[in-house]
Parts: sequence; C-alpha cells; structure tokens
Amino acid sequence: MARVLVVGAGLSGLAAAMQASVRGHHVVVLEKRPTIGGRASSEPRDGFPIGYGPHFLLKKGPLHQLVRKVSKVKPSVLPLRPHRIELLDSGMMQPRKPMMEAALYRRAVKAHDSEHPAIQSSDYFASWGLNNEARSRALLNSNLLVLKEGWSGLVGRLAVTLDEVGIPIETGANVVKIEKHKVHLADGRHIETDVILLACGYGQAKKLIPSLPDVSFVTASTIDVALDATPLGERHGILDMESSMAIFDLKQIHPGIAPSGALLSAIRFGNERAEDRLTALREFMDERAPGWKRHILHEREQKNVKVAPQSMRVPCDYSRKAGVLLTGAWVESAHILSDGAVEASRQAAEYIGKMPLQQ
Ligand SMILES: Cc1cc2nc3c(=O)[nH]c(=O)nc-3n(C[C@H](O)[C@H](O)[C@H](O)COP(=O)(O)OP(=O)(O)OC[C@H]3O[C@@H](n4cnc5c(N)ncnc54)[C@H](O)[C@@H]3O)c2cc1C
Repeated sequence: MARVLVVGAGLSGLAAAMQASVRGHHVVVLEKRPTIGGRASSEPRDGFPIGYGPHFLLKKGPLHQLVRKVSKVKPSVLPLRPHRIELLDSGMMQPRKPMMEAALYRRAVKAHDSEHPAIQSSDYFASWGLNNEARSRALLNSNLLVLKEGWSGLVGRLAVTLDEVGIPIETGANVVKIEKHKVHLADGRHIETDVILLACGYGQAKKLIPSLPDVSFVTASTIDVALDATPLGERHGILDMESSMAIFDLKQIHPGIAPSGALLSAIRFGNERAEDRLTALREFMDERAPGWKRHILHEREQKNVKVAPQSMRVPCDYSRKAGVLLTGAWVESAHILSDGAVEASRQAAEYIGKMPLQQ
C-alpha cells in the first residue's frame, strides 16, 4: 500500500483518488480553492446551474460509467437532438423534410460522410474542434447528454463516494513546490508521501515540473446565462461552422435543469485576442438569441479558457523518477475531454503499484 497525495480536486483528481483507493492505497486530496470541481463545477443560482461553458457527457463513456457505478440513484440525463440543432446557412442538422434531404442525411450519417454539412459540424462541435469521430457519431445518434443536475452534480456524486470511503479532501491547500516524496504548501507546511499524483491541470503542472513537454490547447471564450425568456425557441442549439461559434439552450435539452426560461451556454473557438473572441460571441448572441441581454437573471463569462489539448499528450508516468504521476485530459489515453481525464486517472492509479515507496 502506498501513501498518495492527489493535487487538485477537479474531475481528474476525484476520479484518481477513487481509483487509487479501490486499489488499496492511502489517499489524501489537496485542493487550492475553497471549493472542489475545477472546470467541471456549475454554480446553482436560483435553481439555474450556471456552468463554465457547454459540457456534454458521452453516453457510456468512462465518466458516465464511473458516475453510474458510484451512484445509488442514476443521474437524470437527456440528449442533444440533431433535428433540434440549427446549422447556420444550411437548416436543421437532421432535416425531417423534404423526404429527399432526410434520406440524404441518413445516408451521410451511416457512411460518416465528411462532405455533408451535418457531419462536418458534428465532427467539429461534438469534440470542440478535435474532430473526434466517436463523439461526432454520439452527437448524430443522440448520445451526447445533458445532466439535469449540471456538472456540479457529477462532482458531488464523486465527492460523496470519497467521503463514504474516508478519503479526506483538504480545500484551501495550495501546492507551490514538489520534491521527491514531499509537497510544499503556500501556508508553509510540507507533507511527506510515497507518490504525488498531479491532477491540477496542465498550466499548474508545468509550473511544478518545468521540464514537462509543451502541449498546445484549443482555446475559447464562453458565456453562460440564465434568462427569463426563450430566445432560441425550441431549438437545442445553433452552430456556426464558419466562425467556430455555438449557442446551446440547456433548458430546451433537459427541461428539468432549470425552473423556467432558458439556460444558454455559448462558446467561440479561435486564436484571436480573447477580448475580440468574446466580443464576436456577444454579437453572435445578439443576432441569434435576440433580446437576450434584456432578460439576464445570472451571467458568467470566461474570456480565455483552455478546452482540450490539440497536440501530443504526455504519458501519465512521464515524471515517475521524481515520484510523480500525472492525470488530466492532457495526459495520454484513448479518450478525450473529461473521459480522457477519467481514463488517465485509472491508468495513473494502476501505475502507483509500480512506484518506489519512501525509504
Ligand atoms: C469550455 C469547456 C467545455 C468543455 N466541454 C466538455 C464536454 O462537453 N465534455 C467533456 O467531457 N469535457 C468537457 N470539457 C473538459 C472538462 O471540463 C475537463 O477535462 C474536466 O473538467 C477535467 O478537469 P481536471 O480535473 O483535469 O482539471 P480542472 O477541472 O482544471 O481541475 C484542476 C483542479 O486542481 C486545482 N489546482 C490547481 N493547481 C493547484 C495547486 N497548485 N494546488 C492544489 N490544487 C490545485 C484547481 O483549483 C482545480 O480544482 C470542457 C472544458 C471546457 C473548458
């Protein structure tokens, strides 16, 4: 049995702590913020779970499976429906009429024909610019899900399970330096351990281990708003392929997510200045969700956020000689996004048994 310090209580850290504990290790989680969840959290405001940009769960992906395994009550989920997603300039993603267009769509989905606008858009937007075919097929087959409880519900379910098995999560514990078998906190304490499992996101991990290889990311700006109006009507979303922008109404996708009105989550990708990206997204919303500004109940903007790694990812045992394992969506695995994070956490937990214990 090894003593494991997990740095970061986002989805990766919580999943890694659970996987390490299942393998019999003694685990403690350190989180620098006062709250857990990292990028996967959503904040409840008057019954609206305001998130950090649109998040869709892959049905039966590693995260969905993990959450189902630890939950006594299954999470309530409903899918994005292609016939309710509008593609700017080419109509609905899945046309139902005329018959000819509907038949062409069905044929394109079957062959995954990347010349068809619906397939092009799902290739791009289902995996946020990563063109991941599995997630694209999931969107086209109504297998990308919205959670009634928001993403903080997932975090809550994992945290409850950790609590039940007695794994402590210390919040307000900012790790500022690591050495072999030792972490240093901003408050002057240091903690000895056998294995350090970094689950703190790539930017923070690179600060703690400057020799990590460079990883480039898809970046975006996001706007999440609760409204007392429904400017998208019955549409689940509007996608603009040319300008890499999308607006979703999570309330239309899962009516149970909010008491009334709309819960819009909008995103724009690109490498321009963050201010310009955000301005373009606001203009897109003015045009496509008319009047939204007059109906805002709650709002959250992110000017510049790393969504997913777009270059080579790093192996979880890259720093094993320093007694450190890595996890997150930027760590190598067969999956991407949160599913990648959960899968990388499983691999890292499996690796702990091969690491040397402190003498
Ligand atoms: C806009 C957007 C849309 C996305 N959409 C999807 C989607 O549709 N589907 C999907 O599956 N995934 C999606 N993702 C990806 C998903 O949010 C992340 O992969 C997932 O949240 C896993 O994050 P993590 O735990 O690795 O990192 P984070 O959530 O960043 O957590 C890292 C944690 O470590 C803590 N920490 C950092 N430094 C320290 C330190 N020095 N000491 C202690 N603690 C520290 C942080 O406070 C944080 O809590 C999306 C991401 C974004 C940004």
